[in-house]
Amino acid sequence: MLIKLSMRIGIDDTDSPEGMCTTYLASVLIKRLEKQGFPVREARLVRLNPNVREKTRGNAAIAILVEGDPNEAFELTCRSVEELGMLNAPNTHPGVVVTEEQLPVEFYRKALTSFCTIEEAVKILDSNKAIFKGYKLGRGLIGATAAVAAENDDWTFELLTYRLAGSFGTIRSVDKNSLFSAELLTFPHTWDSVDSENDVVVCVPHTPDPVLFGIRGESPEWIQLARSAVKSEPVGIEQMFVTNQGTDGHILIYKDGGLIEGHSYRFNGTVSGMPQTGTGGHVSVRIESDHLSIVCMAYEPTKKFRDVIRALIPGDSIVVFGSYKNGSLNLEKVYVAQLAENLKIRPPVCQKCSKRMKSAGIKKGYKCRTCHEKTMDSEKTITPRELTPGWYEVPSIARRHLAKPLARFQEGTAIGVLKKE
Ligand code: ATP
Repeated sequence: MLIKLSMRIGIDDTDSPEGMCTTYLASVLIKRLEKQGFPVREARLVRLNPNVREKTRGNAAIAILVEGDPNEAFELTCRSVEELGMLNAPNTHPGVVVTEEQLPVEFYRKALTSFCTIEEAVKILDSNKAIFKGYKLGRGLIGATAAVAAENDDWTFELLTYRLAGSFGTIRSVDKNSLFSAELLTFPHTWDSVDSENDVVVCVPHTPDPVLFGIRGESPEWIQLARSAVKSEPVGIEQMFVTNQGTDGHILIYKDGGLIEGHSYRFNGTVSGMPQTGTGGHVSVRIESDHLSIVCMAYEPTKKFRDVIRALIPGDSIVVFGSYKNGSLNLEKVYVAQLAENLKIRPPVCQKCSKRMKSAGIKKGYKCRTCHEKTMDSEKTITPRELTPGWYEVPSIARRHLAKPLARFQEGTAIGVLKKE
């Protein structure tokens, strides 16, 4: 009797900015595995630390959950990587892993939130008797190992559609209105196909890879409903992936100590200086806690989200989410917990002659230069705040793959409102 073994195939680092995509290679491989009688149970698109310098685009790796003979599956995977991978590209260093063992989930967590070495990956693969191959530098073994080790409480889905092979590199044809209709029909159960606030399509790439469009959502059913509304050029293959996208998996909760470059955090603090708009329209604001004072950045591509940051004032109590890079935290999301009173104190208007009074010196109140009236009372005005407490996020166009969109937050979550346009 033929015994069907459960295994995971991991693949990473097969593409380059000039073409290909590891998800496409995996989708082709899945068709080949199925054709050869391997029952494919699940395809996983596993995003890893978005701050890894060696990434081509979104630091994705693939795990395929499948049954059958591990050696045969490994051969077929290697042949597909050798045929479709961009092996001649200088920064492409593929890795292929096949394992019947569950590899330590800690390695996945580390690859998601921090940095790993090829040696660490190889040690895990050796001690779990995995079959593996690294091409060239073999750096892809890190992603491939992390992908097969991945376990999560929270998963979402993405349907990726690919172009017909003859169309790669040409301009994509996907009807913009149909994408907006698809989002209208299924939001918040699907998200980030379009950016309604900025009137742009988000789910169609502009790079020369084979992807035509991708629809992200909470379940395959909602995604298929959205997909049925999309009008486009003929589609080649399509593949539904289970993914850690939209889960905030990369975010560490800050406790104490310094922030580590290339790690992503949730940090509670109080605004301690007025926000500044710098060259290029990037907005910065300083926040501090008992342990640390940091500068948070809302870069120009985050568009109207910058207005939220500009509307903060010292004393506001906020929670920030983002990656620590080059000495500041790049904001992905903010929770405004408590707003400070926007109180302005200035010299009063003289009751007698209606001229603005001047300070009479420290703790000496005010005096009128015209009629010499004196008072200890200042003029206090409270300006209403433009923000309401609640959550604010960057627009879809600027969202990172791993960032959890507010569309996924529980019903009844306080979503903040910025009153001014
Ligand atoms: P695509 O999304 O098109 O597959 P990519 O953006 O995922 O491309 P890769 O070409 O896969 O980028 O390159 C990323 C490289 O970084 C891979 O070799 C991967 O193994 C490695 N890598 C991923 N996460 C980490 C990490 N946390 N520490 C060190 N290396 C990592």
